[in-house]
Amino acid sequence: MSGASSSTAPEEGTTTTIITATTHLTLPAHPIPLTYEQLNPRSKPTEFFGPLGTAAISVLAPLFTYIFFFACNDAVGCTPTTVRGWQQAWEYVSNFPSTAGHLWEWKAAGVYTAWYAYTVLCWAVLPGDKIQGNLLRDGTRKTYKMNGLYTLLLTLGLSLGVILQPGGIQLYTWLYDHWVPLASAALVMSTFQALFVYAQSYYNKELLSLGGNSGNFFYDFFMGRPLNPHPPFFPSFDLKTFNEVRPGMILWLLLNISCACEQYLRIGKLSDSMWVVLIFEGWYTADCLIQEHTILNQMDITTDGFGFMLSMGDLLWVPFTYGLQARYLAFNPVHLGKFWLTVVVSIILIGNYIFRTANNEKAHFRAGKNPKNLEYMQTERGTKLLTSGWWGRSRHPNYFGDWLMALGWCLPTGFSTPLTYYYIVFFVILLVHRQRRDDEACRHKYGKDWDKYCELVPWRIIPYVSQFAYIQRSAREVCAAPR
Ligand code: NDP
Repeated sequence: MSGASSSTAPEEGTTTTIITATTHLTLPAHPIPLTYEQLNPRSKPTEFFGPLGTAAISVLAPLFTYIFFFACNDAVGCTPTTVRGWQQAWEYVSNFPSTAGHLWEWKAAGVYTAWYAYTVLCWAVLPGDKIQGNLLRDGTRKTYKMNGLYTLLLTLGLSLGVILQPGGIQLYTWLYDHWVPLASAALVMSTFQALFVYAQSYYNKELLSLGGNSGNFFYDFFMGRPLNPHPPFFPSFDLKTFNEVRPGMILWLLLNISCACEQYLRIGKLSDSMWVVLIFEGWYTADCLIQEHTILNQMDITTDGFGFMLSMGDLLWVPFTYGLQARYLAFNPVHLGKFWLTVVVSIILIGNYIFRTANNEKAHFRAGKNPKNLEYMQTERGTKLLTSGWWGRSRHPNYFGDWLMALGWCLPTGFSTPLTYYYIVFFVILLVHRQRRDDEACRHKYGKDWDKYCELVPWRIIPYVSQFAYIQRSAREVCAAPR
């Protein structure tokens, strides 16, 4: 990705500025400087059903992280099917038989803080490419250090070192044995960060997100008021990109490994289902970090502010709920056998193929390459939109691949409990909502060109399926919605 640069003006009074490495846009040569208020207009609190909705999610998401533990563990089973079972689960909330379910433990809080500090240290000292982000509304760009992959490799190396020591497997189950107190520490960290950046944004006059400046605390705290906050005196440390893929994503993998260690201690081997979860969820994390620079074009980075939605999502929700399948298998090993193993692995591989090919087609195209000679349409905005290949089959084919992978991660847990399938349900809701947000954003970006694209590619997520149960509205209806 290259940085900002100006080239010869195509017509008098304008200059072409490279927005990303690949996106060209014509901007006025001498833009009129905007005041702070003009740059940061008030937002309408309409996302997630407004302040009430954001307040509800702020409470419910952490609550569900705990529910997933207390309703699914080796003390009460997964999930209790009798009233007595649920009563027992409730009784265990403040008095769990092992440290795994203690609501708070200072040692776990210390370990979590040390983990977070370690990932910051890795960011600071490990080598990494310096990459310029997209052009911001105030005409500046941020530079990001991309070395998440090295953090992952170092961490996995250290983990292997621990596991191979005598007693190392036992030691590694410490994470499994401190699930809830670690989650509580992550919750405190994410709440602290969200409150801190919210308060700070009133004092340092930084660039605000267009969606998180409504003036309503519950709404702005959740959506994120500042766009790219950083800790005081460390302007090069971008909290949002850092949290997006490092402390939470990598911890998810470590928690999975810890669950695998626990299963190994209990049954003396790893079940095929555990291998599937370990390998493919682990690959998802590694893949994300190999492609770390691509997050700079994601909605979370370009558009969303940094608030509780992202801090809690990244630090609490991802590691401690995405890890549910592995935790379930630790105390309830499922043996898939050859047939189901083939089915599950095939679903994951097909999903991964679609996810990766679709993302690569777009990434190559946005980088000015078109190795498959795909068809595209020119837009008035200056950028082009693919109309064949995966992006000609639906407007978000990558989400479809993601869904298949998500399903493949749940299936290894068998069919004894619905709880381990929460992930696919959550992910369908998340990506349907995200697709709608992106559609809205693209309609603003591209105007009538987006309508044309919708005509050419009317399918939202699932290729060639425009009506999918109740979740895929007719593309024509959406495209025709008044602006
Ligand atoms: P996408 O990578 O899907 O990108 C959307 C953008 O692509 C649009 O805003 C538009 O931006 C561009 N675009 C749209 N249509 C076309 C086209 N036909 N041709 C070229 N460009 C087009 O967005 P996300 O950030 O939502 O997703 C990134 C990945 O992250 C996905 O694979 C998703 O599944 C995954 N993800 C995973 C999550 C998890 O928790 N595991 C959560 C959320 C996402 P422009 O034109 O301005 O370039």
